[in-house]
Formats: sequence, C-alpha cells, structure tokens
Amino acid sequence: MASTAKGIDPIISAAWGKPQSWTLDSYKKRGGYEGLKKALEMQPAAIIDEVKKSNLRGRGGAGFPTGLKWSFVPKDSPKPKYLAVNGDESEPGTFKDRYILEDDPHMMLEGIAIASYALGVHTCYVYLRGEFKFPAERCQAAIDEAYKAGIFGKKVMGKDFELNCYLVRGAGAYICGEETALLESLEGKKGWPRLKPPFPAVVGLFGSPTVVNNVETLASVPHVFTGGSDWYAKLGTDKSGGTRLVCLSGTVNRPGVYEVSMFTTLAELIYDDKYGRGMPAGRKVKAVIPGGSSAPVLGADELDVAMEFEALKVKQTMAGSGGVIVMDDSTCMVRSLWRVARFYAEESCGQCTPCREGTPWQTRLLRKIEEGRGEPGDVEMLSNVASSIAPYPPIGLGNTICALGDAAALPTHSFLMRFKDEFEAHIREKRCPLGDKPWGAFGD
Ligand code: NAD
Ligand code: SF4
Repeated sequence: MASTAKGIDPIISAAWGKPQSWTLDSYKKRGGYEGLKKALEMQPAAIIDEVKKSNLRGRGGAGFPTGLKWSFVPKDSPKPKYLAVNGDESEPGTFKDRYILEDDPHMMLEGIAIASYALGVHTCYVYLRGEFKFPAERCQAAIDEAYKAGIFGKKVMGKDFELNCYLVRGAGAYICGEETALLESLEGKKGWPRLKPPFPAVVGLFGSPTVVNNVETLASVPHVFTGGSDWYAKLGTDKSGGTRLVCLSGTVNRPGVYEVSMFTTLAELIYDDKYGRGMPAGRKVKAVIPGGSSAPVLGADELDVAMEFEALKVKQTMAGSGGVIVMDDSTCMVRSLWRVARFYAEESCGQCTPCREGTPWQTRLLRKIEEGRGEPGDVEMLSNVASSIAPYPPIGLGNTICALGDAAALPTHSFLMRFKDEFEAHIREKRCPLGDKPWGAFGD
C-alpha cells in the first residue's frame, strides 16, 4: 500500500533512543521544564483553562478530557488533595508508557509539577506496575534528580509551593490499573474497585480529592505550555488535541510504539513505511483490535478509520489505551478469543457476580468450542453470558462495579458479531478448522 500517512513531528517520543535521554541534563537542553516555568507564572485556574482549551484527552483508555477532570476537584476542600499517576500499564497489547518512563521520565515529572500546582496538590504518587523494574529505576533516578535541582521539594523552582513525589510499585494485579483499585492499593488495601460516583476527583485517596492521570497524559501536559494550547489543539481533531502513542503488535513487518497524528488511520499504521510496513509475505489482515484487548475487534474491511477517540466510537469500538493488535488470516478467532477471555477471568477481582462467574464461564465455553466439543446452542449461550456481564452495543452498559466486566464482554460480543461463522464451523466440524496451532497474534 502506498505511503499516505500524515507525517507529524513527534513531541512525546522525540528523544527516545538518543544518548542519555532520560537525564535531567538532556531534558533541559531540549527545553525541558520551560513549560513548568511558564505555568508557575500563571494563576492555577488559568492553567486548567489552558489544558481545557488544548483538548488534551486522557491517554489511559477512556479518553476523558483532562482539563475537565482537573476542574472537578473542589477548590475549597479542607482536605489535602492528591495526584496519582497511573503507570500500571497492563492492558494486553499496550506498552507505550514504559518507554516514557525509561527514555524520557522528566517529561512526565514536568507534567506532574504543572498539574500539582494547578490543582493545589502537595503530594503525588507515581504508581507503576510491579513488573516495571527497569522503568521504575529510571523514574526514581529522575525523581531524585528533580529533588536535587529544586524542581520537587519545599519550593518548586523557587516558588513558594511545596511538592513531594513518591514512587510506588504494584504487585502484579491487572485490576490495580483501574483507578479506584489503584487508590485502594495505595492505601495499603486489597485492590478492589470502588463504586463510582463518587469519582476520585471528589472522593479519592484517603477520602480526599484525587486526580488520577495516565503517564502519557501527564507527559503531554508540558507541550500545552511550551507550544501553547492553540498549537496543541490544532495538532489534532476538533475534540482530541495533540498526538498520541500507539503500540502496534501482531502480524506486521515492523511492530513497535509509534507517535501518530489523530488523523492517522489503522490502515496507514499497518501498511505505511513509517510504521508497520505491511504484512509478512503471503499473509492478509483478518482482524484488528484497535485499542487494547478490551476494545471490540474490527474486520479487515474496517481499517480506513482514524485512530482517534470519536472516530473509533462511531465504529462501536474504542481508541482505548492505544494497543493495536493485528491478526492475520492464519489466526483462529475462537482460540484468540479464548486467550483473551482467560486473561480477564484470571484478573477478575471477584467482587461482582456477573464478572466473577461470567468470565470463567466464557472461558470454559470457548475452550469447549475450540477443542471440538462444542454443541448446538453454545454460541448463543456464550452471547448470553457476555450480555449478562455487559450488553453491547453501545459500549458502557456494564452490570458490574468496574470496567473490567465490560472489557471481558466486549471482545466476545464483537468476535461473535464479525466472525460468528467461524464459531459455528468449529461446532459443526467438531474441531478447529484451522488445525492444531493457529495462535496467530496471541501466542500462548
Ligand atoms: P471512565 O470512563 O469511568 O473514567 C474515565 C476518567 O474520567 C476517570 O478518571 C474518571 O474518574 C473520570 N470521570 C468520568 N466521569 C466523571 C465525572 N462525572 N466526574 C469526575 N470524574 C469523572 O473509565 P475508566 O474505568 O477509568 O477507564 C476505562 C478504560 O481504561 C478502558 O477504556 C480501557 O481502555 C482502559 N484500560 C487501560 C489499561 C492500560 O493498561 N492503560 C488497562 C485497563 C483498562
Ligand atoms: Fe472486580 Fe470484575 Fe467487579 Fe471489576 S467488574 S469489581 S474486576 S468483579
């Protein structure tokens, strides 16, 4: 396919791979902390307005407008306010935040300082997934540098404003990336999601107003102040400012993390020379998951869609956490869904019945169908079980406390919607028509 992708100058990933890019010295030479300097001269409310005007949306998965989220924090709360950075990146197919933490952690720290000043936060917790040993080492080294340079501590860059920042590592539970489970975990408790509302912006950590922002979201904030909110907004669409990181995996010639414009389509990401460089010889795209494993799957004829929140919503799927998983024509969709279903069953916290009972039920049914033991009615049963957890479409009608229930049900609905024939063929032929090891993009 010809190269048609709209090129952009990377802003988040510009320094990745360059010598010592993770150090304060390198960051400052590239204009680092100039955005914070500008923000510290502004009134906190004006900072929040700038972020609103920039159309920056959360990069953790939900795409909630960042400035709006900040504006929900009560200004007159007698309680301390907190910022919690969600670096528990665990959504299958998602591996972008770790590059920020490893290659340019000061960009995120600058965003933390700007957000904290705007929100009146004096304590920030950076919560990283337990497996992120190396990213955590790089991030801690950057925090130490920031303290030594007077960026964190009693007076942020000489201003009469105190900010302390602590790094905390999780213990390997996917559910702790759900924002309220993350807060429970920070409080030293079991990572069980809380009912929302109240949202953390009002009742969060230790019962206090807390903003939870993703690593990439915070790394985007300094650019709103160095380039200006107008410039940042114009990089994107009417409703999504800036650029975004996407993680391309599966059967493509050049998987990796790419910074793309909000106008870049899935087809461009897969085929363009700047990105995936197409499929290996002899292989064709069969399906693509556009936003981490919980995002509804798309068929090969649906790839002419921009990887942007609103555009993907129109297709009844999600831009999510930017994990684009490409499956080729040798992939068995039953096996792939079984693999995804096992993940969510394993990671369910067990608090709510539809998720606790439904996720392993889906797994058992899928295994039965894949192993050639499926019976007439199993596909309908699978669909019913998924609907009991969360009906679809539209997205977001889940019957559970947190979005893990939706995440477990949406793949089932969308695989059945687009590839039902394959499920029925397994039952009819009493075997996997594609043979013994068609794991394709998913491995085991
Ligand atoms: P959500 O839509 O409930 O909330 C999004 C954010 O907006 C939250 O911070 C929430 O507190 C805030 N918010 C929403 N409405 C609000 C209101 N009225 N007042 C105040 N704040 C409000 O979504 P979610 O459950 O936080 O996230 C779900 C997404 O997480 C999924 O789309 C999935 O893609 C993603 N996810 C990402 C990863 C990863 O590794 N990055 C892992 C699992 C899931
Ligand atoms: Fe736990 Fe699943 Fe309920 Fe979320 S939906 S609270 S993971 S049982």
